[in-house]
Amino acid sequence: MALVRTARIVESKKFTETVRWIKFKMIEPAVLYYQPGNYIILQGRVEGGIKKHAYCFFSIPKEDGSTFELCVKIVSDGNVSRYIDELKIGEAIAFGGPYGSFYPPAEDLFPLIYVTTGTGMSSVHAHLAFLLTKNYHREIKLFWGLRSEEDLFLLEVLESWAQAYKNFSYHIALSQPQGKWEGARGRVTDLLPKVLKNFKPYKFYLSGNGAMIQDVLQLLEGQGVPLENISKEVYFMPRFVPPRVL
Ligand SMILES: Cc1cc2nc3c(=O)[nH]c(=O)nc-3n(C[C@H](O)[C@H](O)[C@H](O)COP(=O)(O)OP(=O)(O)OC[C@H]3O[C@@H](n4cnc5c(N)ncnc54)[C@H](O)[C@@H]3O)c2cc1C
Repeated sequence: MALVRTARIVESKKFTETVRWIKFKMIEPAVLYYQPGNYIILQGRVEGGIKKHAYCFFSIPKEDGSTFELCVKIVSDGNVSRYIDELKIGEAIAFGGPYGSFYPPAEDLFPLIYVTTGTGMSSVHAHLAFLLTKNYHREIKLFWGLRSEEDLFLLEVLESWAQAYKNFSYHIALSQPQGKWEGARGRVTDLLPKVLKNFKPYKFYLSGNGAMIQDVLQLLEGQGVPLENISKEVYFMPRFVPPRVL
């Protein structure tokens, strides 16, 4: 049976109306070792029982290993994400892990493309923070798809990275912008071929919505990108909503 670990919430804030960032301090054991791209399986207390879901580390491992951070989309009809949203400072969670195999490259042999949607950014943030601070010297491009302006977060961090690291750039696509959005419009999948002229030199890291990942995989196959140059972390597959019959 997997070991159950516990941690206490020490900080929590909303990045947007529906995305919460939370910092935890380990209780048992006092130290947690993990890699960027790993996730935990959190035990949500819902409807008198326990429901388990995976959450990627937003943070990169700290030297003393006593804390970690998550970034969670609060799904309106979701169970575990709403349980997490309602937790108070000082409350404890139980979880298993770390798990996973969505690791950043160990050596800087390739230029990298990250493609993500929504809180798929959690694991991508951990990868980027890790790679940039350890001076990955090849090109890194991030493509991030969100619905509208009110879903944007982390812009200051991305901009500060773009200023500090000349090899890093980012592109955001909003599928349903509400205001005078001057950036790209539409799906992040459609933005990729507009920016990239040649897909072949890159390693691709895909994280978030499974439908987006399916579309990008199809695009990459068409562009002749070999499977071994693609790494992915699928968060969920959107539920099929049948068309309304009038
Ligand atoms: C390896 C892995 C890592 C993950 N890491 C993260 C993470 O770092 N942050 C994070 O927010 N989520 C992450 N997820 C998704 C997470 O595990 C849950 O699926 C999500 O929080 C919904 O759980 P729930 O109990 O609230 O909703 P459920 O009751 O399980 O689902 C309700 C509905 O919401 C849909 N849904 C699930 N996730 C999302 C989403 N993100 N946006 C919109 N709709 C969604 C489902 O398809 C379903 O239709 C990860 C999933 C995996 C497999």
